[in-house]
Amino acid sequence: RYNPGGDSQILEDESTKIFARKVADHYSARTNQTLEEREASPIIHLKKLNNWIKSVLIQLYTRQGDAVLDLACGKGGDLIKWDKAKVGYYVGVDIAEGSIEDCRTRYNGDAAHHMHRKKFAFPARLISGDCYEVPLDRVLADDAPFDVCSCQFALHYSWSTEARARRALANVSALLRPGGTFIGTMPDANVIIKKLREAEGLAFGNSVYSIHFDEDFSEKKFKSSSPFGIKYKFHLEDAVDCPEWIVPFHVFKSLAEEYDLELVFVKNFHEFVHEYMKKPAFVELMCRLGALGDGNQDQSTLSPDEWEAAYLYLAYVLRKRGQPDRT
Ligand code: SAM
Repeated sequence: RYNPGGDSQILEDESTKIFARKVADHYSARTNQTLEEREASPIIHLKKLNNWIKSVLIQLYTRQGDAVLDLACGKGGDLIKWDKAKVGYYVGVDIAEGSIEDCRTRYNGDAAHHMHRKKFAFPARLISGDCYEVPLDRVLADDAPFDVCSCQFALHYSWSTEARARRALANVSALLRPGGTFIGTMPDANVIIKKLREAEGLAFGNSVYSIHFDEDFSEKKFKSSSPFGIKYKFHLEDAVDCPEWIVPFHVFKSLAEEYDLELVFVKNFHEFVHEYMKKPAFVELMCRLGALGDGNQDQSTLSPDEWEAAYLYLAYVLRKRGQPDRT
């Protein structure tokens, strides 16, 4: 299929760029919600659950003073989490210029978000750019190496082509110190494909989300063709409406290994909740965030449809091979 310089290659490059722009424009156009709007969201408890999962990952894998690289950082919704973890330095990169602007405003302590708080304790650099296209080791030569790299709800946007997926992992690997940690969250391809098999046609969902596969998708093609560029349209009420790509986890794992990134763990969000809700500190955090009623999933304040949407995601942790040069 690869035909350097050929027309089909040019067309493929063009359409990849168009889709990357589509994703960027979608996120750029999303405006900041007021606190009232946020609380009224039909997926407010899912958003809180997502925040809890990211907080747990950050608390488990970050040490005081760490230098952090946040790939696809969005509007900086995780800045407070990094502040609580007492990081020493933060670099955020996102393709959506509008989101980087919002992130900058938030970092500088705007009235809407941090009326009662002082500015963040750590210095930060915020950059707009395509993390899956640009060799970031050049851009961030003076900032690297990082102790932790985070990519929350975003790595699947790199899976449109093998070149982009490789660039994503090459960037992470080049910028992490030996022994550094890569944490993230993304859709769980196993769950999505299982649900597709159970569905009547090429679409499924509930009151908070829907997934539509392209007309030309077929199980046979899925099994036999390239594990990149398997596109679907994702809609999450009050949050997402854009093209996304399936990331078969075994492909992610073996490609990551090529870039010296070894899997530490992967857990579907349901499993993640069951596992970390056994720890009192995280139960307390869950109560404070207000995602689950009293820490018991059966009496959850998440609606059943939100809980089902949470099942679409997984959390992963990888470690860059090599001996850490600090203790
Ligand atoms: N990480 C943030 C969070 O957890 O709140 C934002 C997550 S949002 C679901 C996905 C983000 O990925 C968006 O901000 C979007 O602009 C960003 N993104 C998508 N493709 C990207 C790319 N090629 N390079 C950098 N960022 C990208």
